[in-house]
Amino acid sequence: MNEAHHDPRNPRVVIIGAGMAGILTVIKLREAGYTNYAIYEKSDRIGGTWRENTYPGIACDVPSHLYTYSFEPNPDWSETFAQGPEICAYFQRVADKYGVTQEVRFNESIPYCEFKDGRWRIRTSTGREDVADVVIAATGVLHHPHIADIPGLETFAGTAFHSARWDHSVPLADKRVGVIGTGSTAIQITSAIAAKVKRFDLFQRTAQWVMPIENEVFSEERKAAFRDDPAVLAAFKAEALDYFQHFSNAVIDANSREMAELEAACLANLEDNVKDPVLREKLRPNYRAGCKRLIFSPDFYQAVQSPDAHVITDAIDHIEPAGVRLKTGELRELDVLVVATGFRADSFIRPTTVLGRGGVNLDDAWAESPSAYLSISIPEFPNFFMLNGPNGPVGNFSLISIAESQVAYILTLMEEIRGGRCREISANAEVSASFEEKRVEAAKKSIWSTGCKSWYLDKHGVPASWPWSRDDFFKTMAQPQLEAFDRV
Ligand code: NAP
Repeated sequence: MNEAHHDPRNPRVVIIGAGMAGILTVIKLREAGYTNYAIYEKSDRIGGTWRENTYPGIACDVPSHLYTYSFEPNPDWSETFAQGPEICAYFQRVADKYGVTQEVRFNESIPYCEFKDGRWRIRTSTGREDVADVVIAATGVLHHPHIADIPGLETFAGTAFHSARWDHSVPLADKRVGVIGTGSTAIQITSAIAAKVKRFDLFQRTAQWVMPIENEVFSEERKAAFRDDPAVLAAFKAEALDYFQHFSNAVIDANSREMAELEAACLANLEDNVKDPVLREKLRPNYRAGCKRLIFSPDFYQAVQSPDAHVITDAIDHIEPAGVRLKTGELRELDVLVVATGFRADSFIRPTTVLGRGGVNLDDAWAESPSAYLSISIPEFPNFFMLNGPNGPVGNFSLISIAESQVAYILTLMEEIRGGRCREISANAEVSASFEEKRVEAAKKSIWSTGCKSWYLDKHGVPASWPWSRDDFFKTMAQPQLEAFDRV
């Protein structure tokens, strides 16, 4: 291992992942004067979730102008909710502009990190060994596909794939296509293809509340106005943020006025836009709006009412070569089966082996459920920081602004190392435990705790999210509390 890099005034930093958060980290590290760093990426391209997910209809349901780095506004977004390829191109452009792309070590994942003798010993998939003072895991939240354990899936004779592994070589127009799941992904796929394939089956285990949204396609004049006058863009963003503020207040208090308004809007969307009473009842959820991640869609109801689209609510018994056999005995014959059954949301940096102080394994530290002080730091894992780590505000917010505030906080902590005031810094165990206790208590009041099943819930049924307001989050992140961290 190369120990030569060690210079306490310019700590060596290893960044894992070149998605939105990894690109951001490199830019901000450089801005802060750090020059000794390496960024590793498991894939051959940047883009993270936007590289992995290429399914038809993929878009961000956070307005694009909010899903943008604060320091790189993009007046040229083509619509309010930009599509995946446009978002991926934005990240590529920013990474190129700031010289990040050329620095990424592509096709090199990190299976192993160990904190030993005061530094992180890192092994990469190519056999390279690196030594770092600080590790920043920018590895994303939802990247390990969860393939539903449905008997016979492997026997299907047509083409089957997970939504995050879309097979674009298969033309769909003349095919009978089935989609399993009704999460944000399946809903977007439905909107995109239900009217364009030979027959479309949506296998729904749980109905979803759908919040109507308007997706404005920005005219050239509008884009020019955003470009020419920063005040116009700022006003547009402020308006969108205001809406999200409202949403933030709603979800953290299940009994709030804001929540009641949101529920009413979803209910009216269902009542007004689904004509057939039988279909309407199939699509009517039996839990409260917002309990699962709320679906924002301008056209899902329209899509499932396409002439040859079917919402199948009878339970799946098994899959066989010809298609999906329901518990009722009916066989839904299919050519293509899309498994949109989500992701393993508790993985974070794993399956990387991460060994902290004294060899403590992250798997053991997280045996009960993943947790981290303010989602960024774990006791006994010194100089190891996460972006969008456990229990962060994963609701319908822009993960970019969240990551930006986390990077700023982490840079303040790193300043303790660079300033020579300590060599190791990690969240204090008691402070973390007390923070977690308060978080769990507050989460019980949130809409996510009102009795539905979702990937927000950990294995104890506790919402794995920031349970306070959006404002509280940004205020907390803007005022780093050094006393909450052990400094050695
Ligand atoms: P998801 O929300 O976890 O949904 C998975 C779906 O699969 C659910 O409808 C679930 O049904 C169903 N399912 C799971 N196992 C099943 C089984 N054995 N049989 C039948 N159905 C089964 O996953 P996702 O849709 O991929 O979305 C995950 C997250 O990604 C979103 O919540 C969001 O945070 C993010 N995302 C964001 C956007 C965006 O626009 N920003 C777009 C897509 C995704 P149950 O509900 O009954 O469990």
